[in-house]
Amino acid sequence: MLFRQLFDYDTWTYTYLIADESTKEAVLVDPVLEKVERDRQLIAELGLTLRYGLETHIHADHITGTGKLRELTDCVGVVPENAEAACADRHIKDGETLQIGSIPIKAIATPGHTDSHMAFLVNNDRVLTGDALFIRGCGRTDFQSGDPGTMYDVITQKIFTLPDETLVYPGHDYRGHTVSTIGEEKRWNPRFVNVDSPGTLRDRNSFIELMNNLNLPDPKKIMEAVPANQQCGQTVGASQ
Ligand code: FE
Repeated sequence: MLFRQLFDYDTWTYTYLIADESTKEAVLVDPVLEKVERDRQLIAELGLTLRYGLETHIHADHITGTGKLRELTDCVGVVPENAEAACADRHIKDGETLQIGSIPIKAIATPGHTDSHMAFLVNNDRVLTGDALFIRGCGRTDFQSGDPGTMYDVITQKIFTLPDETLVYPGHDYRGHTVSTIGEEKRWNPRFVNVDSPGTLRDRNSFIELMNNLNLPDPKKIMEAVPANQQCGQTVGASQ
């Protein structure tokens, strides 16, 4: 398997390129519009064929590159079921597997950051957690139908039940981390566990209270990003 983590330093977003090295089929997860040329060039240099542009959720902080990639390649745009993106070619359901050559990419419904969000278990050994679980943190839950109680439940009941050695690749990082493991997050993620008392979960109500009092500013691109992403990256009024 070819696996690359790509970074957009303007919005702190990770994009993942995953490919089967024998069939040369590839998928880009959470591509960023401003980075489409970088991604397209990398895919060409590696001799890959882009099959899918796959979204973990409808983003509020950046415009997806999937719309542009669909114009440049024959890739299919895939978004989580119930995501409000009328233009998507295909929706993916909880438990459904997208196959890239011999590599399975299994969707795990992980709402909380938004009401339609998927994590993706790749090759049974790593999970792309989108804006659900971050390294020592988690995605915000204060807009886009976010819900902290739901976030707590899906992380503690669905993500933390993956094997401890599963690698964790988040959708963003703001402090320079790149990868973690489920075991490490179950020990050290201060949003979900008591780091002073190994093996114990933070109380659900205290998580909700914490998340409801973060008082974060809106992402600078929210007003343009959400409507554009509901059109698969077409900015309103733009000709392409
Ligand atoms: Fe997000």
